[in-house]
Amino acid sequence: MHEQSCDVLIVGGGPAGLSVAQALPAHVSKIVLHQDREIGKPVRTSGGTWVRDMQALQVPEHLYHVINEIEFRSDNAQSLHQLSDWKMAVLDITGLYQWIGAQAQDNGAQILCGTKFLSTQPDDKGFTSTARARSGQELRIRSSYIIDASGVQAAVMSDLGIAPKPTRVGVGIEHDYAMPDGVSDRAVLLVGSQVLTGYGWIFPAPNNTLRIGVGVIHPDTDVSPRDLMDQLITPDFLARHDLSLGPLIKSNAGIIPSVSYDPHLVHGRMIRVGDTANLATPTVGEGIRQAMDYGQILGRALGETLQTGDPKPLRRYESRARRQFKRDYHFGFMTNQRIATYQPDDWDKSVRRVSRLSEAEMAALVRSEFSPANLLRTAAKQIWHKLRS
Ligand SMILES: Cc1cc2nc3c(=O)[nH]c(=O)nc-3n(C[C@H](O)[C@H](O)[C@H](O)COP(=O)(O)OP(=O)(O)OC[C@H]3O[C@@H](n4cnc5c(N)ncnc54)[C@H](O)[C@@H]3O)c2cc1C
Repeated sequence: MHEQSCDVLIVGGGPAGLSVAQALPAHVSKIVLHQDREIGKPVRTSGGTWVRDMQALQVPEHLYHVINEIEFRSDNAQSLHQLSDWKMAVLDITGLYQWIGAQAQDNGAQILCGTKFLSTQPDDKGFTSTARARSGQELRIRSSYIIDASGVQAAVMSDLGIAPKPTRVGVGIEHDYAMPDGVSDRAVLLVGSQVLTGYGWIFPAPNNTLRIGVGVIHPDTDVSPRDLMDQLITPDFLARHDLSLGPLIKSNAGIIPSVSYDPHLVHGRMIRVGDTANLATPTVGEGIRQAMDYGQILGRALGETLQTGDPKPLRRYESRARRQFKRDYHFGFMTNQRIATYQPDDWDKSVRRVSRLSEAEMAALVRSEFSPANLLRTAAKQIWHKLRS
């Protein structure tokens, strides 16, 4: 058994865990346990996000492809928004995660790839955790704090018996195609009979690739996203979207929690972040920007707490997340549960409603930002439309 110790043990080398390691002060010793062989591989997400957020997080431009148009398509309705203030982006996931990982390493983090967290034992001063490397070697790591950034696995939370792994989850699969002649700047979100009980997407991505994917919610449906995908990409589908696909490069699959937001993030010296903290939007399951943002906020807060011994910065981390997400995700989750039961004609109506929204209102809906002003404006618009028609 190999023994190590550190101030902070971070379980999970996704965007949340790596961002914590990037933002903790350099003098704080930190180890990231990551079960995959490499950071950012395999890809388990489609990487749709927003240019504003990537700029705020100082992500280099070469790591995303800018989207200037977003289209929503159902069986009999279509909505197209030109984007100016709310440009979207599709990320080079491997490139982005490795970029955050490199910064975390420059900041002194030890990243142990191919090493799976197994269990932890708390005591007054912290935790003694065990992990296993792919070689079979066992590690025992002593740490003052432990961060659960293991995504849907909630590996630490479930081991400590704080919360079980989420049972309602979004399950997605996508294919990446090479497009040597280049890709457009239009993203498409697909709803209706082709992807009933979920939604699909066509995302032009960096490095001349096109990502086509579908996601569904289990156990609301037992449909397999792989079967849906096989049925989706037909000659008729390609003709409708004016697509001529190059060779398939790879297929990605991933799982995301789809449960209501629980604002309790700090459990003594165990803190959760990213998907383990359910920070992804309940409407479309977009969580990379929140994982990075709150990973950094947590890294800075924990740095202060370690320096002063005062737990208040960690409380501020928790209350900031509560202020930002609680109300929005409450409405977002209600929307999520409602649209999971939609039939094709409900989707047609919904896409027509989206077509009447301004760019900012559409962005707020996709981002699960349901401020009272947003809700009132959108409701007034729908009522006005009904009265006129
Ligand atoms: C199909 C799909 C499509 C998505 N599309 C988008 C999108 O377009 N835009 C967007 O913003 N978000 C999207 N998301 C959500 C986004 O991927 C997540 O919100 C984001 O990855 C959360 O980051 P994280 O670091 O919290 O978790 P993760 O990215 O899941 O990282 C956690 C890491 O921990 C590792 N791990 C787990 N257990 C252990 C263990 N026991 N020991 C060691 N390591 C462990 C895992 O291997 C994993 O790499 C999508 C998700 C899915 C499933």
